[in-house]
Amino acid sequence: MRKLLVLLSFTTLFACNQSSVDKKPVGEPTQKPVSDKVESDNFGIVIHGGAGTILKENMTDSLEMAYKAVLEEAIRVGHGILANGGTSLEAVQRTINVMEDHPLFNAGKGAVFTNEGKNELDAAIMDGETLNAGAVAGVTTVKNPINLAYEVMENSPHVLLSGKGAEQFAKEKGLEVVEPFYFHTDARFESLQRIKDSEKTELDHDAQKTAFLDPFIKDSKFGTVGAVALDKNGNIAAGTSTGGMTNKKWNRIGDVPIIGAGTYANNATCAVSATGWGEYFIRGVVAYDISAMMEYKKMSLQKAASVVIQDKLTELGGEGGIIAIDSKGNIAMEFNSAGMYRAAMNKDGELTLGIYGENEDMEE
Ligand code: ASP
Repeated sequence: MRKLLVLLSFTTLFACNQSSVDKKPVGEPTQKPVSDKVESDNFGIVIHGGAGTILKENMTDSLEMAYKAVLEEAIRVGHGILANGGTSLEAVQRTINVMEDHPLFNAGKGAVFTNEGKNELDAAIMDGETLNAGAVAGVTTVKNPINLAYEVMENSPHVLLSGKGAEQFAKEKGLEVVEPFYFHTDARFESLQRIKDSEKTELDHDAQKTAFLDPFIKDSKFGTVGAVALDKNGNIAAGTSTGGMTNKKWNRIGDVPIIGAGTYANNATCAVSATGWGEYFIRGVVAYDISAMMEYKKMSLQKAASVVIQDKLTELGGEGGIIAIDSKGNIAMEFNSAGMYRAAMNKDGELTLGIYGENEDMEE
């Protein structure tokens, strides 16, 4: 019943607002609608490629261009799907696939290394219409973990699978499986060595903790990837995929596959994908907290995102950010770290792309 009411209210809303451009080919200049057909189909997509200490002074022009190029390529894939009437779930999944396949990001190929020199991947996807969700943790052979998360959601009675069992499920479902070395990149391996070297030089526990965190914070673009989308049917979805944190131990699982922490979607409120220091996002139940602020306190998406990231997460000591969208197409890209790779595209194909902090770099 609630779903019906939501759909009805959006139908009414968009019937009064004839502003959408139907099936405009992606990448073409924005045009005003020429038909007098009443549109009822807003849509949009927002993505991130990780947050952290991302400073302009540490970035070369060519690397910056490379990040922007992949972000744009990825968001155009999702936007094209939405423009053609595809679902938000499909847009989220395919957009994330582009970033998983690109070694620049800490997801799929290019994932960070565990203390043992392995790549253990986490991912989650959630459907805001049904509140269905699927997630995987600690997989080492699945080329695109977000696709496995989707399979868990659609074709298993469970929400979260881990390790060997998740990989067995992937094989049974015919997903693409690769040798673990597929995920290796020299740059990520060197980051691990740097952290391990600095660990060796410290003796007491506090110093070790600092040694673990310092290079992580200084070195790291957390690098996780995520997408949230609104489709023409008014449904929102969220997905996130990551290699986790460099030097993680003991089969550590981060916030990404924990529904409500790093990933959450509910048509009644918003879809959220997070990136940052996962332990804090788990403890703060960050993605769900933004949704709850909207549901219980009637906050706007932007206000809820700002309170949770700038006030609550910061107070807890956590670092990172989120991207989010609601069923009206409002978006938020909020972070308390120096930077967050991010991009948004609305139904008119207007692209917003940024890397560093506020007012520094948003461009179209
Ligand atoms: N949130 C991820 C984790 O803690 C890391 C990241 O965002 O890059 O596993």
